[in-house]
Amino acid sequence: MENTQLDTVKRQLITVARQLAEKGLLFRGEHANLSARIGEQVLLTRGGHVSQLGNDDFVLLDMNGKVQTGSLESTNAEIVDMHTRVYQVRPDIGSIIHCHAPHVTAFAVAQQPLPLAYEPLLRFGHAEPTPVVPWAPRGSTASVQGIIDAVDGHPSLQAVMLANHGVLAFGRDPMLAAQFLATLDEAAELVLAASLLGGAKPLPAAAFEEVQARMRQFAGTPGAAVH
Ligand SMILES: [Zn+2]
Repeated sequence: MENTQLDTVKRQLITVARQLAEKGLLFRGEHANLSARIGEQVLLTRGGHVSQLGNDDFVLLDMNGKVQTGSLESTNAEIVDMHTRVYQVRPDIGSIIHCHAPHVTAFAVAQQPLPLAYEPLLRFGHAEPTPVVPWAPRGSTASVQGIIDAVDGHPSLQAVMLANHGVLAFGRDPMLAAQFLATLDEAAELVLAASLLGGAKPLPAAAFEEVQARMRQFAGTPGAAVH
């Protein structure tokens, strides 16, 4: 592996973690862990303060979770499988962010799936209500199996919620995963606000195809963006 690629991905994760903290998406406790796929390896935060990551705050794992470089803090040794097993079953995923983004986590605590009612989510390829994986201790075999059962064979699912805990968001790279997470938290906040106004209304069944078709039509247009 090129060292330059490792350095680039590390820089992306450091930048993304700082942005998530600035936007309030790590919530006040800043419980979070972030990773990215680099070829046949996974770069994972090793522990500590995620909003203040430095170059040495990462470990490099093989796809089975075996540490290749660096050393994990015990709190993050617990969550290795939560990352590596998702990469194993979903080759489309290049980065994973786990955190307790406040509005999405409200749905996780209420054990309520987040309905698909906010158009920007569709632009990330997310085309299903966000499910809640049954509770089990963080990173445990039962918890990870619940995550795998939800995401395996569901390429249009870009996040799952962990019951009574938080969220796991995905993307092709760290920037897209972070952008998606921010959009998902907006969706959760808006669905909560809409509950005072008679409740969020679902998007039509054909919305995903229509949005994707429009994105293809304008692909390559200067200024065309995800949102
Ligand atoms: Zn957590």
